[in-house]
Amino acid sequence: MPGATVVTVTGPLSAAELGVTDAHDHLFLRTPALPGQEFDDLDRAVTEVREAQATGLGAIVEMTPIGCGRRPDLMRALSEATGLPVVAATGYHRDAHYPSGHWVHDAPVGLLAERILVDLERGMHPADWLDPALPLDPARAGAIKAGASYQRISRPERRRLEAAAIGSARTGAAILVHAEVGTCGHDIIDLLEAEGVRPDRIILAHLDRNPDPELHVEIAARGAFLEYDTLGRIKYRPDSDLLDLIEVMVRAGHLGRLLIGLDLGRRDYLRSWEGGPGMRYLLATFAPRLRRRIGEAAVEAILVANPALAFALVGGATGSGDDTTVVGR
Ligand SMILES: [Zn+2]
Repeated sequence: MPGATVVTVTGPLSAAELGVTDAHDHLFLRTPALPGQEFDDLDRAVTEVREAQATGLGAIVEMTPIGCGRRPDLMRALSEATGLPVVAATGYHRDAHYPSGHWVHDAPVGLLAERILVDLERGMHPADWLDPALPLDPARAGAIKAGASYQRISRPERRRLEAAAIGSARTGAAILVHAEVGTCGHDIIDLLEAEGVRPDRIILAHLDRNPDPELHVEIAARGAFLEYDTLGRIKYRPDSDLLDLIEVMVRAGHLGRLLIGLDLGRRDYLRSWEGGPGMRYLLATFAPRLRRRIGEAAVEAILVANPALAFALVGGATGSGDDTTVVGR
């Protein structure tokens, strides 16, 4: 797709320049849902990223949403220090990530959408509006996060999905939805489609928590992207199961719908915090095994071509995929 553009924290970039992309990860995070697992240390993040770059990582989509310790200033500093393009997120997580009393719980769709649009079009709010007077960071978000609970989409989560749809319609940004333990996939697509979102603007994350190939083939056939992001999480299942799942999906003709991310959303998952598997795992450990299963070209499609397609701005009122007209400042 010549001319397709992504928005990174250091500005618009041709999607073709992303290279191997970790389609869902975290550089800085702080959420009440994961006490003791917060990380927001620039030096450690740089160390983690440099290790991954040495294995061939080209770009990261940083999916920390509003209210979860998102740090536009540190993402910019990291991107400038390492040269790694970082696509940041706006939007909201599922209910569990907001403490009681947080403005996100009761905000109407209009306010939720307005703040998504500020992040996408003008610059991310440095304190996620807990201190509304602070000036915006120059870094803009380039993707929209939403989330649903296990087996159900709560009323506030529906409002946040509707707000994500408004943000996507205006800017052409993709919507990445946290599907808790891989549930509610069809319901999430139904809701977003009813709000006018094209299926190819929808990315369902964590589907590999429920590695059910028949369900995944159904979802891929609807045109949404499926993101697998629990590689190296041996507590859930061995990587061999995930390799089996990817192989089945490729054989079923859905190579073009697959994305892979590490989603290292806990301090314990990061080598720079003395944990694991760490950000180098994707290319140092998982990709070689995947190549032996599905071949070099298919791995390249999943890690390079698919994310370039999924995260490029498509058809928004203010984003046309052209560098000069993308999301007006
Ligand atoms: Zn995540």
